[in-house]
Amino acid sequence: MPRTVYVNGEYLPEGEARVSVFDRGFLMADGVYEVTSVLDGRLIDYPGHAVRLARSLAELDMANPIGAEELAAVFRELVRLNRIDQGMIYLQITRGNPGDRSFVFPDPETTPCTVVAFTQNVPDLADAPAAKTGFRVISIPDLRWDRVDIKTTQLLYPSMGKMMARKAGCDDSWFVRDGTVTEGTSNNAYIVKGNRIITRALGTDVLHGITRASVLRFATEAQFEIEERPFTVAEAQGADEAFSTAASIFVMPVVEIDGVAVGSGKPGPVAVRLREIYIEEMRRAAA
Ligand code: PLP
Repeated sequence: MPRTVYVNGEYLPEGEARVSVFDRGFLMADGVYEVTSVLDGRLIDYPGHAVRLARSLAELDMANPIGAEELAAVFRELVRLNRIDQGMIYLQITRGNPGDRSFVFPDPETTPCTVVAFTQNVPDLADAPAAKTGFRVISIPDLRWDRVDIKTTQLLYPSMGKMMARKAGCDDSWFVRDGTVTEGTSNNAYIVKGNRIITRALGTDVLHGITRASVLRFATEAQFEIEERPFTVAEAQGADEAFSTAASIFVMPVVEIDGVAVGSGKPGPVAVRLREIYIEEMRRAAA
């Protein structure tokens, strides 16, 4: 069954879904995106994604073409039409098709944004095999631009980082800037020392993860101490545990960094527990 894709108000079979070659998303990576996970056919952590989307658009001077309620209705319709039980919804909004290529932003009155959304089926999202073995990561220089707090579609370097990890026989890369870890290619990064969970503070050098916000809230409720500060690769290698969070992986244990085992070299109890709590609480709150 071909997927049904949403393009500018229409639900189309994926083979008929089209965006112009002049679209600024294609020519300039002039667009923002969100990934929202789905469990039991319901949206996970949706309000946070809607708020961050509005912020990303505002930071780039783009009008928000679709309200949070309307967008949730689109997401639910895609989940229904594509019969998604577990998976993800990808949303992209670009500055549209001005009809020519130019560095100057088009007038939003005459060039509406392009809005595209589609689903990806991931039947074992909650029960991901990778969560049982954990990620092995390498560290690489953070060569991204200085506003990675805006969730733009400029993902070439993170994609290269993922490939560097693959070539090294690993699962992901953690970025290092000025001697400390910023985040993973597509996730926030954490270490655990005793009862403390340490992760970089929010700024312009990390994405403000929606999963991060929820996991830190649940961790506080579970009596963990949260320390928002930078950490080095050496500190991470010597920590009790490490993990990453994102909508696509929830909480993912990290068991090795640059060939050095973290803790026991197996998924640690804190990461495993936080993953359980996150999935349980989010399933309960799903909408
Ligand atoms: N950091 C980066 C660079 C990301 O690309 C992502 C998700 O795509 C995250 C962190 C995690 O964000 P979220 O928890 O909202 O998925």
